[in-house]
Amino acid sequence: MVNKKSFMKTKMTVLLSLSLGLASSFTAQAESFLVDSQASYKNVLSSLQPGDEIVLKNGVYKDFEITFTGKGTEKQPIRLTAQTKGQVILSGQSNLKMAGEYLEVSGLVFKDGYSPSGEVISFRRNKDDLANHSRVTEVVIDKYNIPFKFESDYWVGMYGKYNRFDHNHLEGKSNKGVTMAVRLNTEASRENHHRIDHNYFGPRPILGSNGGETLRIGTSHYSLSDSFTIVENNYFDRCDGEVEIISNKSGKNQFKNNTFFESRGTLTLRHGNGNIVENNVFFGNGVDHTGGIRVINADQVIRNNYLEGLTGYRFGSGLTIMNGVPNSSINRYHQVDNALIENNTLVNVDNVHFAAGSDKERSATPVNSTIANNLISHSKLDNTITLFDDVSDNEFKGNVLSKDHKKVIKTGFSDKSFKLERANNGLLYPSDKALADKGVSKDLVVTQKQDVGTTWYPKADPVVAFNSGKVIAVNANSDDFYQALNQAHTGDTLLLADGVYDLQKITALDKVVSFKAKNQGKAQLDIYRSTSFEIRDNGGLQFDGVIISGKNAPDSTGNVFVRTSRLPMLVNYRFELLNSQVKDFDINHSFHFLDVAMHSFADHIKIENTEFDNITGDVLKLNKEVEDLGIYNAEYVYLTNNKFTNIKGAVVKLYRGGTDESTFGPHIYVEGNTIENVGLGKRNKEKTALLVHGAQVIDIQNNTMKNAAKVILNHTVGEAKTMVSDNTFINMDKVFITEINFPEKPTGIIENNHYKQM
Ligand code: CA
Repeated sequence: MVNKKSFMKTKMTVLLSLSLGLASSFTAQAESFLVDSQASYKNVLSSLQPGDEIVLKNGVYKDFEITFTGKGTEKQPIRLTAQTKGQVILSGQSNLKMAGEYLEVSGLVFKDGYSPSGEVISFRRNKDDLANHSRVTEVVIDKYNIPFKFESDYWVGMYGKYNRFDHNHLEGKSNKGVTMAVRLNTEASRENHHRIDHNYFGPRPILGSNGGETLRIGTSHYSLSDSFTIVENNYFDRCDGEVEIISNKSGKNQFKNNTFFESRGTLTLRHGNGNIVENNVFFGNGVDHTGGIRVINADQVIRNNYLEGLTGYRFGSGLTIMNGVPNSSINRYHQVDNALIENNTLVNVDNVHFAAGSDKERSATPVNSTIANNLISHSKLDNTITLFDDVSDNEFKGNVLSKDHKKVIKTGFSDKSFKLERANNGLLYPSDKALADKGVSKDLVVTQKQDVGTTWYPKADPVVAFNSGKVIAVNANSDDFYQALNQAHTGDTLLLADGVYDLQKITALDKVVSFKAKNQGKAQLDIYRSTSFEIRDNGGLQFDGVIISGKNAPDSTGNVFVRTSRLPMLVNYRFELLNSQVKDFDINHSFHFLDVAMHSFADHIKIENTEFDNITGDVLKLNKEVEDLGIYNAEYVYLTNNKFTNIKGAVVKLYRGGTDESTFGPHIYVEGNTIENVGLGKRNKEKTALLVHGAQVIDIQNNTMKNAAKVILNHTVGEAKTMVSDNTFINMDKVFITEINFPEKPTGIIENNHYKQM
């Protein structure tokens, strides 16, 4: 029964045939139904004719699992839209499933919840009932995350054929699973000719695990099928989830005119043949691990792409041409054969790797490929091209290197002295007319942020910087301290007057706050509880210039000054301790400074110019991901110019287990510290002053360590970057690196260290 009162006919009849200009055409009356509840939506749905539309009344719909089915026509699609675009909010456990022909959805916003079904938007109702010739446009999915970080889902699952996904805004996916997947899992979804265009792929934070891709097309299983998907004019804004921004796993796709802005990772042609990557622009702006294009498989075309300021290396380089595996199984690496790589411009791209990944298994070098008319220039480095194997079965011609660049490949590269000028399209071109046919064409149009997504949903910055808000002056007493903290907004600074502050409460922190001593060393925080601060989602914590004392802490074991939430966390946090003193954490045993929970993730932890003395536990406990799944607790750990003395536990325990290579981190930088009488407590079960297991970048330089327990450095992935140099070790064991999984190719450098006994 259709409840007539549950919907209203708003717009009256429209004669669509008029616009077609066909005298004999069918004169269907398109109707528009305004609905305001799930029940009325259902009632209307079954009666829809081609050309009809359902309009959701403005408001918040909770737990609305929308199934949108019907058969429209090319000229008369069936539409689902919002009364006002952006003012229909799907929250709680909502989702959208489409099935049928010529359906179009627009104007909806998914936020404040997550999909119960594994996909927020699905171009199918079930595995047999798919959507074809259908479109999703101007839809927003904003942080619509499953609250358990490592429970996986997609936000968009594209099935069927001839579908379009355009002008949408997807931002802030922080649980596991690709943001958008084109599936080829049944015959009805292959050779699909989908178009994915003008979307805003907004910031995706570092996941700290595999499964953080922004777009994946296909899977290895069906990767020898052609997909014919076009991905064009999209903007990828800081899509940092993992090493693959886009993971292409099928054939005959085109990636054209997309912009990649400060995104860590690469567009990876992981599986499938005959794909085209053309007219794309990559701006790294020197951000760590920004990469470009990674080429694997046969018949790939990489043409007229502009890459600038990319720092990535190895498989994350600006341009990586991989070695393959002879007779590769479908999920390994097929040889690069017949690639065409021409007219690309690489400016200040730190690494171009040919025959990357060459080893006993990956021994099939790139062949029959043409690398022509590319322009490579770097203002600082004279050697950005690296060969890892033989590339002589390819043709290099007409490429230009800026002068003083080392000619690693002897033929097909000329070195010229040329100047670059920035053109109106924002790209650099050589001013020398003789080089007009080198690098990208003059008419390359760069897709801008304002050209994509919706016009009505803001593209906000997701990261709140420390000290970016107001400064709040705080008097030296506990009441004022907590009152100011309550009133602070995210980004604010509490400026602490000289004196002592009793930390009588456990503060659950869901905003970014800085505590700064008005006069360095004159504001003291005295700990009275088993924990003083608990960082929760959206929290961030910085101390600058304070004294933190444990002398009034409870006389119990396992006190912790700062911890992360014991509830599941989804949002990465930052912690900084600068110019401070931490002392007397010795009221009982195992008193730790920072202890994190499983599945918490710090974008960075920075300790600088700080003295730690008399600690019975560890300073940084970042070792809670014990399942060896390639997961870890912090992306960057910086310890710079600190003094650690009389610590029974370790300065840091950082752990990432497993051999997965989908992440760039963790990174740890330990520089200029003094570490004395550290790690020798009997409860320090690893017997270490510094434990770094599975980090991918380790830099330990210019430290002095004396009478401390050993340094443990374990490599678990191939080609970790480790440098241990210019340290002085007094009465200490020799430092070495243990290669746990790849003992045949040690990559660490240990040099110029001084060992003394006294
Ligand atoms: Ca991956």
